[in-house]
Amino acid sequence: MRLPLRNRFRGLDSREAVLFEGPNGWTEFSPFDDYSIDQATRWLKASLEYGWGETPEPTIPNVPVNATIPGNLNPEKIDAVLAKFTGVQAVKIKVGGDSSHSADLEVIRYVRSQLGENVRIRVDLNAFLDLDTATDIVPEYVEAGVDDYVEQPVASVPALAELRRRLAGVVRIAADESVRRSADAYQVLLAEAADVLVLKWQPLGGFEECQRIARAAAKSGVSVTVSSALETAVGLAAGARLAASIDSETPTPGGLGTSALFVSDISEAVLPNAGVVSTARVIPEEAALEEFSAPDIRTKWRRRISACYRKLEV
Ligand SMILES: [Mg+2]
Repeated sequence: MRLPLRNRFRGLDSREAVLFEGPNGWTEFSPFDDYSIDQATRWLKASLEYGWGETPEPTIPNVPVNATIPGNLNPEKIDAVLAKFTGVQAVKIKVGGDSSHSADLEVIRYVRSQLGENVRIRVDLNAFLDLDTATDIVPEYVEAGVDDYVEQPVASVPALAELRRRLAGVVRIAADESVRRSADAYQVLLAEAADVLVLKWQPLGGFEECQRIARAAAKSGVSVTVSSALETAVGLAAGARLAASIDSETPTPGGLGTSALFVSDISEAVLPNAGVVSTARVIPEEAALEEFSAPDIRTKWRRRISACYRKLEV
């Protein structure tokens, strides 16, 4: 199926996903187009585990989420996004993309002025900066109002580690792209390259793998937050269940409120409400399955699933 997005996100106007029903309920397979079969195979492993395998029953009904503000929006559009995320404890702003540095600072200042004092701001740079530039401009984000963490300002693990040393006491550093595979997560921990690890249910290959990483992170005093890969409501609910299974006492607000970024999702069950989303499994609405079905991409996705499944078998 294909879901249209409200604003361009990660270079996309719409999001493609495959939904299927297993004995446990509905599950999702939705690696981005630019992911290799090897990478996408981990996504399939997660999909099958959620639909057919053993996953922990959630012990809490919902988990907190952050608001997500795509880069380069004017105040009017920012207001519209924030209105969908009332009650959140954290806001994540995408910066460093096709917007200028001064425009990014303006957006951060504007968002800060619209939020209560106890709402934290994090920014996501998607590995956009080099080490020296990051050393210079990350403190400017902090001055503008960032008080939670700066996500993946630089690409490599050694650069992340060095930046974290340089900015100790200024702001926390989170690793996202550097945690694409579970082996990478341990590299990040070993190099002491981050204060926070961003875990994603599908890219990391499912619950078991993510929970293992979370345990290792806890031993190193590193926190984790669960984020979406811009999944539909079905995949977001899996992420919420994962977040609950990692920390049911004080879960960090995660990036699981992204259902609000779609014009409309296959179910409204995972729309953020008062700053939280539900951990219950989602059943897609019949009408939405019909509305967003995309016969033109079926062959492509069937081929992709077959190729990944063959990899899983070997
Ligand atoms: Mg990120």
